[in-house]
Amino acid sequence: MDTLQERASHLRENPFLIAQEQLRKVADTFEIDDDLIGVLGECKKAVEVAIPTTMDDGSVDVFTGWRVTHNVARGPSKGGIRYHPDVTLDEVKALAMAMTWKCALMNLPFGGAKGGVACDPKAMSTAELERMTRRFTSEIVNEIGPEKDIPAPDVGTTPQVMAWIFDTFSMNQGHSVLSVVTGKPLAVGGSLGREEATGRGVLFCLKEALAKEETPLDGLRVVVQGFGNVGAVFARLVSQAGATVIAISDSSGGVVNEKGIDVEAAIAHHSGGGRLVEFKGGEPISNDDLLVLPCDVLAPCALEQVIDERNADRVRARIIVEGANWPTTPAADEILRENGVLVIPDVLANAGGVVVSYFEWVQGLQEFFWKEEEVNARLAEIVAKAFGETWALHAERAVTLRAAANGLAVRRVAEATVIRGLYP
Ligand code: NAD
Repeated sequence: MDTLQERASHLRENPFLIAQEQLRKVADTFEIDDDLIGVLGECKKAVEVAIPTTMDDGSVDVFTGWRVTHNVARGPSKGGIRYHPDVTLDEVKALAMAMTWKCALMNLPFGGAKGGVACDPKAMSTAELERMTRRFTSEIVNEIGPEKDIPAPDVGTTPQVMAWIFDTFSMNQGHSVLSVVTGKPLAVGGSLGREEATGRGVLFCLKEALAKEETPLDGLRVVVQGFGNVGAVFARLVSQAGATVIAISDSSGGVVNEKGIDVEAAIAHHSGGGRLVEFKGGEPISNDDLLVLPCDVLAPCALEQVIDERNADRVRARIIVEGANWPTTPAADEILRENGVLVIPDVLANAGGVVVSYFEWVQGLQEFFWKEEEVNARLAEIVAKAFGETWALHAERAVTLRAAANGLAVRRVAEATVIRGLYP
């Protein structure tokens, strides 16, 4: 029986330690009780499972998977599942904690969770992915459920993967359980607007920030790293809104074109299986160089820790809007603040996905589905409210948007924890 080889993480710093450190800073700024921070700084539950999977050649690979619940004070836990070769338990724990703050900031009745499987989905066939996903779901079948913990897509997972999770869980229950997972295809209880929701939320936040500065979006030069569910949708929507997308990338590298990338042509090339470095609509550029291109707006929409103390000083964007989770390290954050770069933090900027996941969960529970306009209008309302509250606290306390967003979120979770009391 083969086992997946241990790989070095793509992350230079331990993401869970960063998450805990960030929480301590929030506690200092907003004077939150030490005992409470002790509770909120740990994950409620972390389950590690082995996932033996028959590969197409008849051999068996054993993958490692995790499902982590950080907190359920405000409701069942919610968070994506990541398929990536380098994913680690500490990364999943950090992402689970971020989900708690994101749901609280958006005022959704959810706590935070995350899952991950250390695998390379690009190197696996559809049949291998399906067998691995179904076995993973069976291993965590007692952890998830509409009232307990509700997974969703993240890096490397798709609506099809969510459909397999939904089907496997439902087979175990003996009936269809629509709200066990969100980000499903429309044919099996997905929500209109879910696929575009995260990118749409990124654009809403950018527009709200520009409105505060009284700067028009039209003609702004935008750089987007990552061309998946978040990056490609954001690139499309921001260019449709009148901005000029001058550079895009995926894991292979990217292309730059000062006159503007034809985003629709890039999406057609990419969805046909093409790598962006081979896209003919611009000059090739590495992911490292892309991040420091002169531009108005930089949208990191790929992985964590891509802006750190080594490149933060060279970032030439005026605004960073974080489509990805944790793309900026705390040291980089400090440098960007000193350089006057406005960072719209992940917890606010990319929350559109979980907001529409919440709508999908509600629609699944009621078995009553909404029109796309209703979904988008309600999404806009929730994100605009959270943005307004964050901006107000940022102005009132003269803190960064990240500190304000995390402060609001942590205070809400702390309040729920105190009101519920400590059991027993
Ligand atoms: P995805 O798998 O659809 O796309 C990821 C993209 O990043 C791909 O284009 C991939 O090629 C690229 N990429 C991977 N490694 C890279 C590297 N080293 N350098 C540059 N590009 C690289 O994933 P996604 O769902 O778009 O998620 C992207 C980020 O957004 C993640 O941080 C995720 O946690 C976050 N996020 C996603 C959602 C959602 O609804 N999908 C919601 C909130 C936050």
